[in-house]
Amino acid sequence: MPNREKLQHILTQLSDIKSTVKKVDTDPVVFPRRYPGTADRETVALIAASFAFGKVSGILKAVEKVLTPLGPTPADTLRAIKETELKELYSDFNYRFVRPEGLTAFLAGIRHILLSRGTLNPLVIRENPLETADNFYRQLLKGSGNRAALCRSNLLADPKRGGPAKRWMLFLRWMVREKAPDFGIWKHLISPSELIIPLDTHILRISRYLGFTGRKSPSMRAAMEITRCLAELDPADPLRFDYAIAHLGIDGICPREQKSRHCEICPLQEVCSEGRIAGNTKSKEGLNIQ
Ligand code: SF4
Repeated sequence: MPNREKLQHILTQLSDIKSTVKKVDTDPVVFPRRYPGTADRETVALIAASFAFGKVSGILKAVEKVLTPLGPTPADTLRAIKETELKELYSDFNYRFVRPEGLTAFLAGIRHILLSRGTLNPLVIRENPLETADNFYRQLLKGSGNRAALCRSNLLADPKRGGPAKRWMLFLRWMVREKAPDFGIWKHLISPSELIIPLDTHILRISRYLGFTGRKSPSMRAAMEITRCLAELDPADPLRFDYAIAHLGIDGICPREQKSRHCEICPLQEVCSEGRIAGNTKSKEGLNIQ
């Protein structure tokens, strides 16, 4: 990893600025933040993370449409609701691949876990994010009442099929890490050092620029490789840098088609292979990256 100390310094500064509550209204983490109770926060986090595909604006609208009918205590509502009522509540729901029957099956799966375990955290496998994701995946399918519709909906990815399991890892980051914008509800079950980065296209692309991986396709192998590099910068909490790097892409600071004008105001330019190509290495001190 080139310029390790410089990279550590810049990413630490970037994370300290980015990982504040100021930006969370443009991130699905805003939803679990609304609910103080543990069962509600876990339930809403699972719903919001599972919808984290597509454009942020669409995700925020879709999750809002799921949560509004569930009222102020979604976990209690799901425990009490009948399947026929769920179908009526979401009879006109439509977000990308998610149709009413897929959403109903997903919520029925959550209800199954809540009724059988009380909350979601008994499904956590200690110190093992991948097995935890697999346990959730299997239990949700089992309780869904309609596995085919749930699989068609794209709400659940099989975490053991070699993909990056991004949404599962995002859910676990929210639940395990304690520092903002995450909640730390499951910090006694999994250590932050065991988490795997929720690998999206922004993280993969910027990770290539920073020399964390040479892989071009998102996969669990790429996610582990990038996480290992981040662990060299902070062994106890490698995902500390995840939110800040992801938001360079999400917020348009480092768009897919970056031009030199983007690199000129980017805090990573000195340690980024693409930024160095863009050529301007003037100091970023004092630049407002938000
Ligand atoms: S320096 Fe340029 S290419 Fe590198 S992360 Fe910043 S905007 Fe993206």
